[in-house]
Amino acid sequence: MTPKPKKILIVGANFAGLTAAIQLPKTCDVTVVDPSPDFEWIPGIHEILSGVKTPQGLRLNRSQIVARAGHRFVQDQVTHIDTRRRRATTAGGDILPFDGAIVAVGGISNNYHIPGVDQHTWPFRTVADSLAIEKRMEELQHKPAPLHVVVVGGGLSGVEALGELLRRYRHRPEISFAMVEASAQLMPGFPKALDADLRRMCQEHRVSFHTGESVARVTPQGVWLASGKRLPSALTIWTAGLAPPPLLRDAKLIRPPHTWAAVHQTLQSRYASSIFVIGDAAALPKPASKQAFNAIDMGALAAQNVTRWLADESLKDFKAPATPILLAFGDLQTYLVAGKTVLASKTLAGAKEGVYQLFMAQTAPQPGLQGVPGALRRLRKSWKELVVPGLLSIKDFRATPDCRPLKLL
Ligand SMILES: Cc1cc2nc3c(=O)[nH]c(=O)nc-3n(C[C@H](O)[C@H](O)[C@H](O)COP(=O)(O)OP(=O)(O)OC[C@H]3O[C@@H](n4cnc5c(N)ncnc54)[C@H](O)[C@@H]3O)c2cc1C
Repeated sequence: MTPKPKKILIVGANFAGLTAAIQLPKTCDVTVVDPSPDFEWIPGIHEILSGVKTPQGLRLNRSQIVARAGHRFVQDQVTHIDTRRRRATTAGGDILPFDGAIVAVGGISNNYHIPGVDQHTWPFRTVADSLAIEKRMEELQHKPAPLHVVVVGGGLSGVEALGELLRRYRHRPEISFAMVEASAQLMPGFPKALDADLRRMCQEHRVSFHTGESVARVTPQGVWLASGKRLPSALTIWTAGLAPPPLLRDAKLIRPPHTWAAVHQTLQSRYASSIFVIGDAAALPKPASKQAFNAIDMGALAAQNVTRWLADESLKDFKAPATPILLAFGDLQTYLVAGKTVLASKTLAGAKEGVYQLFMAQTAPQPGLQGVPGALRRLRKSWKELVVPGLLSIKDFRATPDCRPLKLL
């Protein structure tokens, strides 16, 4: 008699979880759970603020992708994981037993328990968040001037959001922007040259930067800083950091002193051998940055390791690839950061767009002719909004070299 296929449960199906689902063989009995019907290309949500991207362009249908991989998709939220009895409970009341599970639930917006953040700021984590901010900007710009917008968080997502707001609104003198960052520089952890160049880009626009400043409270009128400064704000965008979803603590996958779910380098939980935690939710012995490319690679390895563990085979270690970061600052600049090297060029926007197009084309549920209309829609939009200006700047590049390495400070 052939043995029954092992049951593998995947909780969360974005970069990490969906990659794991695609990589797991059809011979496994795989169930994938996520509350939302669509995969979202989160690294592109800032472009909704300027209208360069539409929500449809950043989404792919999860149930079709999972079905094509030969597995079952359940649109629901996992509310509890019993790691000892190996079963998960969903908000819809399903009990999902498993032999091995991959937990890829990402992170949620961190309010740091600061008064007013939940009530008076706009989170920036999903397509829906970005769309809500875009709609609010539309409403506010029709009110009497002036309009103050504050972006809290000067990391990758805050800077990219500010860039898109400037792309759309920098020609409107009644709209001004402020950015607050707790660290001494914008883009903490990256070369300081990036901070200097971003500030230089903003010199002729109405942007003020408040680095080394933390937020004490937020009210409907504005943002109060711990230093006593008050920044008037009609719209406060919160990009100040991530916190783990409560499910991880509830399942005891996070235990002190860790803030995230501690795993071995093999991605296997330190506290439950049947569980592999991947993507933004995981804390590895050799830390990996919370980036989509790491989440994708962890998804691929977790698919291998969970099947190896179920077959009593030895597990492989995760090795974070040295992938350069592409940071878009609206249509003002795009940066490529590889270690300590920073290149600035508007033409790099095309490379960032290429990464997105390639991933979406490879992951789209309808291969072949069925997928063509969707791919064409995305390409047409990118061509008009990004590639054509990119090519124009290649021409400019001949006259005045556009691509320049930033001097390290
Ligand atoms: C504005 C912005 C720009 C970014 N730009 C870049 C970039 O340029 N390059 C880059 O590499 N990275 C970028 N990142 C980071 C990147 O998006 C994340 O690292 C990546 O999304 C992490 O993937 P993940 O699968 O671990 O988690 P997520 O993508 O957050 O997915 C988690 C999934 O789990 C699901 N889930 C959560 N709780 C449950 C539950 N209880 N039950 C079932 N499902 C659940 C969610 O619905 C979601 O689908 C950016 C992030 C932001 C916010």
